Amino acid sequence: MSTAVDPAQTIRRGPLTLDPTELPPQRHFLGGEFVPGASGGELEIVDPCTEARIAAVPEGTAAEVDRAVTAARRAQPDWARLSPKDRASVLYRIAERVEQHAQTMARLESANTGKPPEVAEDDVLSGADTFRFMAGAVRASTAQAAAEYVEQHLSVLLREPLGVVGVVTPWNYPFLMAAWKIAPILAAGNTLVLKPSEQTPLSTLKFAELTADLLPPGALNVVTGLGPEVGGALAAHPDVDMIALTGSVRSGQSVARAAADSLKRVHLELGGKAPVLVFDDADLDATATALRTAGFWNSGQECGAACRVLVHESVAEEFTAKLVDAVRAIVVGEPAAAEVELGPVVSKAHYERVCGFLRRAEENGIRAAVGGGPLDGPGYFVAPTVLVDVPEGAECAQEEIFGPVVSVETFRTEEEAVRRANAVPYGLASSVWTESGRRAQQVAAALDFGTVWVNSHLVLANEVPWGGFKGSGYGRDLSIYALEDYSRTKHVMTNNGR
Ligand code: NAD
Repeated sequence: MSTAVDPAQTIRRGPLTLDPTELPPQRHFLGGEFVPGASGGELEIVDPCTEARIAAVPEGTAAEVDRAVTAARRAQPDWARLSPKDRASVLYRIAERVEQHAQTMARLESANTGKPPEVAEDDVLSGADTFRFMAGAVRASTAQAAAEYVEQHLSVLLREPLGVVGVVTPWNYPFLMAAWKIAPILAAGNTLVLKPSEQTPLSTLKFAELTADLLPPGALNVVTGLGPEVGGALAAHPDVDMIALTGSVRSGQSVARAAADSLKRVHLELGGKAPVLVFDDADLDATATALRTAGFWNSGQECGAACRVLVHESVAEEFTAKLVDAVRAIVVGEPAAAEVELGPVVSKAHYERVCGFLRRAEENGIRAAVGGGPLDGPGYFVAPTVLVDVPEGAECAQEEIFGPVVSVETFRTEEEAVRRANAVPYGLASSVWTESGRRAQQVAAALDFGTVWVNSHLVLANEVPWGGFKGSGYGRDLSIYALEDYSRTKHVMTNNGR
């Protein structure tokens, strides 16, 4: 492994002491109650900073999925019958409840993922805002005007819930990704069964505990367990109307296959490999400062992370020096240590995966200008890394590393920059850095990504959609488009001529 790890990149230690009363019940949440697992199998939950066990949750089975779906199905008609106003008032109370317990939620998230408090608090508060946004949005739905589009026949469009939605969430933003699903799904009048990542179920179980008295029993059900068993059973279940997954491409393909027999709808938010196009007229200081955050937020375990820089060759040296200086100053450590900006990656398996990318890059002559390998344990810490001398088509610039690693390639022309930016299987997010309005507009139009930022990166809002093209999946999270995805239109045409 590279010896380029900077001595400044040491780990600030400050273990988080979690009060055991803050932990949620380590059980499934079915029909409004916490119930023990039937199989007796357990999944260990580990603190990635210390590698110590902090909890264990039941290893769910298809039988428990079936119980959860039955509970959700039973609860759905009454929940859907509530007026948008009444469903919205429940969602507002959920947002308030999450905010009241934001510190506990953030501490659980930090303990389970190693996130710095700044990241965990941002997750919790913006997740609460998702509930507020969806509460407001469902009361202001719009549709095509009711009218006689055929003589004497009045057309009215109804927007209806789908029914029961199965949800599978990842480990990088455990609560936030759950909130992005739960809020629009409930707002639209559906009920749901959610399987959190087997590595990070604690904040989702805590959310179920905190909101148990606000939601009718069965509206939200949580089954913990492994992907193929619990997620697969949800995707295949004949009484689930849609399966929504945020996760890797492989998991997305698997649920789409499992969903095919019952022809249920599929909603997929998958991986990303966001290109960052830095042109010769860009404000290089502002770009480097922004990428220090956008490339390394949440240890780079972020599907929209600014992980792949393409910079014009005439400014490459100057820009790379600025980026490397900015990245070298990132403070790495445990959540309770002072001023920490970057924590570990989530698990041993993922740590080995990220280190494998770095090792192979080095073997292929790619240089780490800063970082380049793991930091001393315990914990799954990887040094914030900038890879340079990256040739076109290199693995580190094509595949999702999902760690604190940014690669830098150079280009000569605008056309080449766009072509290479688009030459990845993903299509989630991208950014363009230029002072030219003409170039910003033309390049944004040519980029094949669901989000394009201009002179910015990784700025999200509940009002605007998030989702990808190509291998990044289909369907939209956030905004009114998520509400539309989790509902269906019905056309009622009445013959007024009789
Ligand atoms: P993962 O695919 O390994 O796991 C995600 C979830 O899918 C987990 O709950 C897992 O148990 C479940 N799962 C795994 N195999 C399954 C199967 N065969 N059937 C059903 N469920 C299955 O992904 P991860 O490692 O937890 O998360 C990282 C991935 O998520 C990255 O690729 C990242 O880009 C993506 N992600 C995307 C977005 C987005 O908005 N597009 C957001 C966050 C994360």
